[in-house]
Amino acid sequence: MSDNEQKTLCAHIEDELQIKDPEAYVALIKSATHYCQGCGRSAANEENLCQPEEL
Ligand SMILES: [Zn+2]
Repeated sequence: MSDNEQKTLCAHIEDELQIKDPEAYVALIKSATHYCQGCGRSAANEENLCQPEEL
């Protein structure tokens, strides 16, 4: 798969990115400006959330 950039954080969590590659995961959630209304995750880019809402 080469669509990591477009993948939602929600999907990354299901893929256990936070376990497989903690640094990459932290890069996604650090300086979070949005959170997901669907699953409660927060991320720096709304593109990484399935139901983004501004913090
Ligand atoms: Zn979500």
